[in-house]
Amino acid sequence: MTQIDIKPPQLGAAAAAFLAKGPQKLLIGGEWVESQSGATFDTLDPATGSVISKLQRANAADVDAAVAAARKAFETGPWPSMTPMERSQLLWKIADIMEANIDELSELETLDQGKALYVGRWAEIPGAIAQFRYFSGMATKIEGSTIPTSINYQPEGKQVFAYTRLEAVGVVGAILPWNSPLVLTAMKIAPALAAGCTMVLKPSEETSLTTVRLLELIQEAGLPEGVLNLVTGFGGEVGQPLAEHMDVNKIVFTGSTATGRRIVEASKGNLKRVGVELGGKSPVIIMDDADLDAAIPGAANAIFFNGGQVCIAGSRLYAHSSVYDKVVEGMAAQAQAIQLGHGLDPNTHMGPLISKGHASKVAGFIADGKKAGASILTGGETAGPNESFVTPTVIADVSPDMSVVREEIFGPVVVVTRFDDADEVVAAANDSDFGLAAGIWTEGLSNATRLAERIHAGTVWINSHAMYDAALPIGGMKQSGYGRESGQAAMDNYLELKTVCAIV
Ligand code: NDP
Repeated sequence: MTQIDIKPPQLGAAAAAFLAKGPQKLLIGGEWVESQSGATFDTLDPATGSVISKLQRANAADVDAAVAAARKAFETGPWPSMTPMERSQLLWKIADIMEANIDELSELETLDQGKALYVGRWAEIPGAIAQFRYFSGMATKIEGSTIPTSINYQPEGKQVFAYTRLEAVGVVGAILPWNSPLVLTAMKIAPALAAGCTMVLKPSEETSLTTVRLLELIQEAGLPEGVLNLVTGFGGEVGQPLAEHMDVNKIVFTGSTATGRRIVEASKGNLKRVGVELGGKSPVIIMDDADLDAAIPGAANAIFFNGGQVCIAGSRLYAHSSVYDKVVEGMAAQAQAIQLGHGLDPNTHMGPLISKGHASKVAGFIADGKKAGASILTGGETAGPNESFVTPTVIADVSPDMSVVREEIFGPVVVVTRFDDADEVVAAANDSDFGLAAGIWTEGLSNATRLAERIHAGTVWINSHAMYDAALPIGGMKQSGYGRESGQAAMDNYLELKTVCAIV
């Protein structure tokens, strides 16, 4: 059994003051309120299993109230008449306020989610802030076009004047997962506000704290009441009624492929628009000409960052036969060097997984792989006082039909396969239900561009992995979902095209 030294978490004064205010409330129509049933639930520190705060356990009645508030804010009040420039300034102000509170947000994210502090403080939360800055610029660039027509039956002396407008889609329901709460929420709020939508947010039941805090900060920035509403609680009790709601115009969802299917099904009643960002099983390919000094740590980071709880995690590693032994040895050494601990401990490289239940699910996949004949080269154990840690795991001797190769494990587990040529590795990489992302390590430009073209994935990184930028669209092919977030493409999620054709 791996021993993990869990030091009692030390929080700064701001994060401690936020927690002391609990139970945290729902935000509906600009007011912080309790759930109508009065029910609450506990949110836990995944590293220790101890309760860190209480949240409101909302249900369909609270969802109705939140949707009504979002509808009112969309149709009346100051929001619809705000100019694009005013919306732009508001988004920039939100980014400034987040930046001023970045340490508190990072500590709360780590305590609630388990991630090592540096992941939130230096990658995800700056990424969330960047979303607001990027889409601040977009608010003033929502443009239609004028269209020349061939209509020739207008009255004598009159002209046809036709143009398009891009208009806010309306009330948007956003349903979020637990792995990277703040940045994934920002990826939805920022473009939605730029477009002029109003929203009802449903964070994961496991990680709602930073969304509560973010909305407090956004209120400070002066967002009109009802534009953003928050309902915390469980998927079946809050997410499902939100996805089914007849007065919601669009659902944007990030989560597992299984829940994504349920969301699409639930959206049928009013044919609401749906955007789904789902799971992945991303291939990382190390070619024979790769710079191994960069590729091996890069491939290790692709899977072990945030404990592998990343949709684009490089969980299938393909190494050319000529470098396979070095890659396997290097990956095992990288895995063994990772320091496990409480996310708030500055020495920690990798924190726990989100829960004991999830760690046991991950361990189940590893056990299935072993039973099917795979070799566990390193790791493969659960550990920690809450049994929520999984030691970084490298698996070899796998075959394409094994569940460790096919399923999204969402933990620090990589399977390594050898290949001999490009056709073979393209076929293997594409042999997946998922198509979210891929990584290619090579010094050859033609290898890189040809492979990037042939791999079925929404994003391909070359000599890197998980290079995110608010300007770069991200999203899936195949069962990794549809729609794109980040970049100009994200605006499509929140806009409807209207054609206006006039005789003038
Ligand atoms: P889930 O699909 O389990 O849950 C996501 C959200 O959906 C949660 O808020 C959940 O609520 C809610 N939910 C659950 N059931 C329903 C329902 N019937 N109707 C409506 N909402 C429901 O995902 P996880 O939270 O486990 O997150 C991990 C998954 O997210 C992984 O598969 C990962 O790949 C994917 N992901 C995809 C990304 C992408 O951009 N493609 C990015 C990040 C993650 P509750 O919390 O109460 O269960």
